[in-house]
Amino acid sequence: MNREIAINHATVREKADMLAFIELCAERHIRAVSIWGDEIDKVGEAAALAALRQSGMTVYGYNRVGPFITSQLDNAAAQLEQAARFGADHVLVFTGGLVDGEQDLKAARRRHEDNIGDLLDQARQTGVKLALEPLHPMLVGDRTTLASLSHANSICDALGDGIGIVIDVHHVWWDERLEDEIAHAGKAGRILGFHVNDWLVPTRHLLRDRGMMGDGIIDLPNLDRLVRAAGYDGPVEVEIFSDDWAARPPAQVLDTVIQRCEQIFSDLVTR
Ligand code: ZN
Repeated sequence: MNREIAINHATVREKADMLAFIELCAERHIRAVSIWGDEIDKVGEAAALAALRQSGMTVYGYNRVGPFITSQLDNAAAQLEQAARFGADHVLVFTGGLVDGEQDLKAARRRHEDNIGDLLDQARQTGVKLALEPLHPMLVGDRTTLASLSHANSICDALGDGIGIVIDVHHVWWDERLEDEIAHAGKAGRILGFHVNDWLVPTRHLLRDRGMMGDGIIDLPNLDRLVRAAGYDGPVEVEIFSDDWAARPPAQVLDTVIQRCEQIFSDLVTR
């Protein structure tokens, strides 16, 4: 895949369903998108597949498998198969956090690592790659037990082929081991994606107040250099969960996204 922009549907999904989203992206010469299973359900899989085929667009990330509670794990095989039908490059793994009342983080981590191992067996059979995306440590209570690139690398080291890492700047920008861990992931050929947005100061909400690239304090050109130096040559994926941007017209949001990407990331193919 070329060095281009991919857009994650979450960026505009409040006002654009999946069909409208694909159309808006096609009008802007975006050729790769990342999608969500619940958004496919809203428009119907046949219509979503037809729209993608018609636009010639490829699916980069499929969101997502998890959280790792029994009811959701039962769905994992179906979700992996749906991701395969959409030709997704990788499927995002969402572990979820601690269960109600649980205080044994170590046990929860071990349980989730086992779940990832089981899931990987299924993913290998389906032929899709699993993507571990370490989330920000403040989300460990309720949303994840995977909160650093070091942990993600060690899981991948243990499990072998078919699993890799998505690096989202919002989640990892603070990490003092960032350079080493990106280099490690790169050397193993396991960087599957690079999610961009920005960290606002102050951040008013942990889930719904990400910034547009350039509006916050993350050194995005530096992070971009690190992932490229590590051998990643896939798209720069824009993923902005933000009440502020979700309230604006999707076309305007996407125009801003493209403009900012052109300013910040060098050598992007955007036409
Ligand atoms: Zn992300």
